[in-house]
Amino acid sequence: MSKIDELKADIERLPGEQVAELFRWLSEKEWENWDEEMKADSQAGRLDFLVREAVEQKAKGTLDDVPENQFLNLYRCPDDGTQWTMIWSCMCDDRCPKCNAEIEPYMSEDWPLNSLRPATGND
Ligand SMILES: [Zn+2]
Repeated sequence: MSKIDELKADIERLPGEQVAELFRWLSEKEWENWDEEMKADSQAGRLDFLVREAVEQKAKGTLDDVPENQFLNLYRCPDDGTQWTMIWSCMCDDRCPKCNAEIEPYMSEDWPLNSLRPATGND
């Protein structure tokens, strides 16, 4: 058994709230890494095209409205135990991918995507 498989087996034995805590921790780690990469990319000018695209779309009036707040919703189906995550603009229900039951999120996190929106100003 690989280390990862062992960890997975351990995680499967954890109670739900501890899995959620672990998930949060991993997400934070992921975002920290991602932030670093974004910073490096941004400083190297590798993200300029995104800003350019947004500015062009805004000029043409085709820029999609970015919701003010987005949420990372965590769902768990009580019937078949399926777990999944979705990003929505609210804490709304979602359909279980397995049995199609309507499930409300058991946890919801602010999605830090908001910080990605290009700054709009009169500069
Ligand atoms: Zn289900």
